[in-house]
Amino acid sequence: MSLKFSAGDLTIHRAIEQETTFLPALDLLPQLTPEVLAENRAWMRQAKAIDESDVLILCFQSYIVRTPHHTILIDSCIGNDKPRPARPKWHMKTDDTYMRALSAAGVTPADIDYVMCTHLHVDHVGWNTRLENGRWVPTFPKARYVFGKTEYDYWTEQNSKAEVPPFTDSVLPVVAADRAEIVRNDFAIGDHVRILPTPGHTPGHVAFALGKGKDDAVFSGDLMHTPLQARYPELSPKFDVDPAQAALTRRSFLERYCDTDTLCCTAHFPSPSAGKIRRKGNGFACEAV
Ligand SMILES: [Zn+2]
Repeated sequence: MSLKFSAGDLTIHRAIEQETTFLPALDLLPQLTPEVLAENRAWMRQAKAIDESDVLILCFQSYIVRTPHHTILIDSCIGNDKPRPARPKWHMKTDDTYMRALSAAGVTPADIDYVMCTHLHVDHVGWNTRLENGRWVPTFPKARYVFGKTEYDYWTEQNSKAEVPPFTDSVLPVVAADRAEIVRNDFAIGDHVRILPTPGHTPGHVAFALGKGKDDAVFSGDLMHTPLQARYPELSPKFDVDPAQAALTRRSFLERYCDTDTLCCTAHFPSPSAGKIRRKGNGFACEAV
């Protein structure tokens, strides 16, 4: 399995927390018809993107990127000890898979200079914090944590109406510890890290484009969850806050990177999860390199 990639002067490692069945394709993607699913079942099974019961298989992982100047962790997965009663595979788990995956990538939590979250959903913020003596503390003690302002403001408002546990246990403690950078879309780190706004899945969802002066790699977060959405960009998951906007964002993102050399590092596509965007019919494919 490919866990390491090079792109320009970047070295990219994947740290996988889980790669597992998630939801039936027809449930996650309300506009998907049984006919379109049937037409695509063979290659989706071959790609291990769907199981024998048409349940989607998703990878849950972080990317660790070494630039010549920094070590950056993109999206922090699920986390341990977190109450997530709606998701038994995530609820109060205590395994060491993620920490072992970081070690295998050659880093310790103290090596991370920046943690960057594409958005603030439960499976992208979990390891921002860990439990220590009954308190949530930043897992990456030296890191600055980068959260987009539109996203942060959206979840602040949602959380004021009804508690959003991933926000209160995995984002607010980072802010309280003064480790957070709430940034606008013109934020950059040197000449290697830029933000590409990709709204729809959530209002402030962003992708991160990395590479000196050009996009050697892009980290697409949840602007798509399964390779079926690259093939059919109009298919928005039921979790998208604005499904119409998400579909436009998805197609324009795929068009932007289609037939370029940019390595597209998806959050949830099955292993190897990263590839180059190529045209396929009226849609696209993310082809392994
Ligand atoms: Zn996600």
